[in-house]
Amino acid sequence: MATLTGCRSRGLQRLSSSVFSDMERARRAAVARGQQVINLSVGSPDLPPAPHIVERLHEALDNPGNYGYPMADLPEFREAVAGWYERRFGVKVASQEQVVGVMGSQDGLAHVCLAVCNPGDLVLVPDPGYPIYTAGPVLAGMELYPLPLRAENDFLPDLDAVPPQVWERARVLLLNYPSNPLSATADLAFFGRVVELAERHGVIVCHDAAYSELAFDGYRPPSFLQVPGALEVGIEFNSLSKTFNLAGCRVGYALGNERVIAALAEVKSHLDYGIFRPIQEAAIAALTGPQGPVVELARTYQRRRDALVEGLNGLGWKVPAPRATMFVWAPLPPGWKSYDFALRLVERTGVTVVPGVGFGELGEGYVRIALVQDLKLMREAVRRVGASGLFK
Ligand SMILES: *Cc1c(COP(=O)(O)O)cnc(C)c1O
Repeated sequence: MATLTGCRSRGLQRLSSSVFSDMERARRAAVARGQQVINLSVGSPDLPPAPHIVERLHEALDNPGNYGYPMADLPEFREAVAGWYERRFGVKVASQEQVVGVMGSQDGLAHVCLAVCNPGDLVLVPDPGYPIYTAGPVLAGMELYPLPLRAENDFLPDLDAVPPQVWERARVLLLNYPSNPLSATADLAFFGRVVELAERHGVIVCHDAAYSELAFDGYRPPSFLQVPGALEVGIEFNSLSKTFNLAGCRVGYALGNERVIAALAEVKSHLDYGIFRPIQEAAIAALTGPQGPVVELARTYQRRRDALVEGLNGLGWKVPAPRATMFVWAPLPPGWKSYDFALRLVERTGVTVVPGVGFGELGEGYVRIALVQDLKLMREAVRRVGASGLFK
C-alpha cells in the first residue's frame, strides 16, 4: 500500500517518540523469554474503587433512562464537585458555570488549548512533564515554550527568568503539582507568584491537580485555586482516576474562571455529548460519600513508597522519598542514559520503568518508577535490582 503514506499530520509528526513503544517491545520480549515481568512503568492504579461507588454505578446501570446522550453535566455532578472542593480546600465557586465535567482530565487538558488559543500562540509547558501537556497544544497547532524543572529548584519553574517577550506571546501556562513524573510539590507562595504573573501578562493558568489526595506523612497538597485572584486567571483540573481508582471510567472535571470553563465546555459540546450518566452518578457517590477509603489509599501508596525507597537506598541506589503522587523519580548513577538503563533493567530483572527522557529532554538521567504493585512485588522488584549487578 503506497497510498496515503504521508497522511500523518504535522502535529502527529512533531509528537513522534519511540521511547514508549521501544519499552513496550522490551517488555513483550521479556514475557516471551519467560521472565516474570513486574510492571512499574504504567501510571494506572491497580486497586479497585470503594464498594459504595461500584454499587451506585450498578444501580445507575439498571436504570434504562440512563442510556441516552447525556449532553450537559448532571447538576448534581457539578454540585458534588463544588462541594468537594469547598470541603477539601475551602475553595468556593460562585455558580455551577464555574465547573465542567471532562472525560478524564486528559480530555480537558487535550482540548483546553483549542478552546482558548489561536494557532501559533505560545503555551508554557513543564519539562519534564506529563505527555498531554505537549500533545494537547501541539495537536491544536500551538507553539511550546518549555519551562525547565530542575532538582536544584525543587522542580519548580523559575518564572521570573522567563523573558518578557515570551510572557507577551504566552497564552496558557500549564502546571502540575504534585507532579507526574517528578513527584514534586508546590506551596501557596509559589502559586501566589503564578497568579501575580498571570494577571500582569494576561496568561491563562491551567493547573492539573490529579494527585492532590495521594500525599504522604501528613502532607496535604494545596489547590492552586486557594490563592486569592486565582479564579480570575485560571482553572484547575482534577480527576477521579487516582483519588478514587476510577481511571477506566474516564471522569474528571475542571473548575475555576467562568469564561475559560465556558469556552472549554463549548469546545466539548462540538466534540462529544457528555459523560455516561451512570459514571457521573458513580462520581457523585465518590465525591459526596465517605472519604476514608481515600485516606487508606494514600497510606497504601506510602507503604509501597517506603518499601521501594528504603530498599533501593539499601542497595546503594540513592533515590529521594516523594511526599506525594504514585511515582518515584529516581536519579541514575553517573554515566547512565535513562533509555539504556531502563532497557538493561528489564532485560536483567523483568522490572519495567519509564526512561525519564520520555517526559522531556530534562528527564534525561532519571527513570520513573510507579508504585502500582502490591508490597510483596515492590519488595521483589528491589530484590531483583539488587541481584542484577547494576548497583555494585
Ligand atoms: C493520571 C494523571 C491524570 C489523570 O488523567 P485522567 O484523564 O483524569 O485519567 C492527569 N494528570 C496527570 C499528571 C496524571 O498523571
